[in-house]
Amino acid sequence: MQFSDLGLSEQLLNAVAEQGYQTPTPIQAQAIPVILAGRDVLAGAQTGTGKTAGFTLPLLQLLQQQPIPRRPRPVRVLILTPTRELALQVFESVQTYGKHLPFFAEAIFGGVSIKPQIQKLERGTDIVVATPGRLLDLIQQKCLDLRHVEHFVLDEADRMLDMGFIRDIRKIIALLPASRQNLLFSATYAPEISELAGQLLHDPVEISVARRNAAADTVDQLIYPVKREQKRELLAYLIGDGNWQQVLVFVRTKHGADRLAKQLIKDGIRCAALHGDKSQGARIRALEQFKSGEITALIATDIAARGIDIDQLPHVVNFDLPQVAEDYVHRIGRTGRAGAEGRAISLVDPEEAYLLAAIEKLLKRQIPRVADTGYDRVTLDVTAGKPKTKAQPQAATKPKSKTAARAGQHRAGRSGNSDKPGSGRSHSRPARPAKRSPNPSR
Ligand code: AMP
Repeated sequence: MQFSDLGLSEQLLNAVAEQGYQTPTPIQAQAIPVILAGRDVLAGAQTGTGKTAGFTLPLLQLLQQQPIPRRPRPVRVLILTPTRELALQVFESVQTYGKHLPFFAEAIFGGVSIKPQIQKLERGTDIVVATPGRLLDLIQQKCLDLRHVEHFVLDEADRMLDMGFIRDIRKIIALLPASRQNLLFSATYAPEISELAGQLLHDPVEISVARRNAAADTVDQLIYPVKREQKRELLAYLIGDGNWQQVLVFVRTKHGADRLAKQLIKDGIRCAALHGDKSQGARIRALEQFKSGEITALIATDIAARGIDIDQLPHVVNFDLPQVAEDYVHRIGRTGRAGAEGRAISLVDPEEAYLLAAIEKLLKRQIPRVADTGYDRVTLDVTAGKPKTKAQPQAATKPKSKTAARAGQHRAGRSGNSDKPGSGRSHSRPARPAKRSPNPSR
């Protein structure tokens, strides 16, 4: 199938061709005709499947098929995303695919000054890509009117619910006109998603491009059983020994991200930390440095890493396993994007074995273990349950309340110095462990 078979306009086909895309991805092939036909959609699509173009292209075309409204233009397309990074990324996609079309789009998210957003909205805009909190702020300030929205997209709906946005989402939906097209995208299907879908969608077409709750098939997954205190050294070794040029490392807490970044810089690895306490400027800078190859490693918490889109990211490392098994799917979805091969490595301490058990239950398979990591041999007992003796570090990934989620989203401020790259382009190899045999026992 070609893009030209999907009924897209010449302007959109040109924009797609300029991106160098040859053929539509499965989600695009399935979603584009259905959205063009005006149907509601429930799409189970992992990140990296090309889902953003899957809804952006047909929505732009639907706008194109209508007369251009008088200024100030009313908002006709509303796209909600869980994080500012994703909002920015979807906004960039709208601009990229809509570059030959006469539409205005704005990205609306917290953590930055509200004034420029107000000024832009006053001029009128056809498409708004927003995070829920700032959108509601702007509505309360009467800077935004949703009564003319014709197309509503809930992107990464599962993450929205995880982050405690359900009440905000309901408030926003209540402000939309009754007659509209709704598109819901979610990587995983918790029962709450089905409930939300039932309320939001009218006779939806269901599209699923990957097995539900299945991790990307193109990702090679591997577990390194290792003591917590040896994780940093092992990571530095893997980066140096494998001559990795680009690795996204997930840690559980903001503090853990800063600490690991500082330690890796001492190991001679160019890296930066990315988390919710960083200012928006520092977050954007860290991402740009990572994308351009200026830094090798990006050390991120789940929320900050949401929406990171880097073509063919080769390595993802779980320095800490996520507290919620579904996050593992999201994390490793950062690699092996749009059909490219990737490798996801998890460094697992025995105390995290119960988290691994939950992940493997979700995936319905065992992830191969490296038999000899070169460090002290440890056993991961996935039947043991959560250890009772030690308190688990507080999860930075799952704010318990909406307030907590918002606090993480909106707080801007101190940007540690850990996002300064290390001094050398290449990293010195860290001390080699006593013996190494990184062959997985498969
Ligand atoms: P997404 O799942 O929307 O985050 O997209 C994942 C990546 O796939 C992005 O980097 C897109 O630029 C890329 N992409 C989207 N559509 C295609 C396509 N048809 N062919 C190749 N790459 C694509």
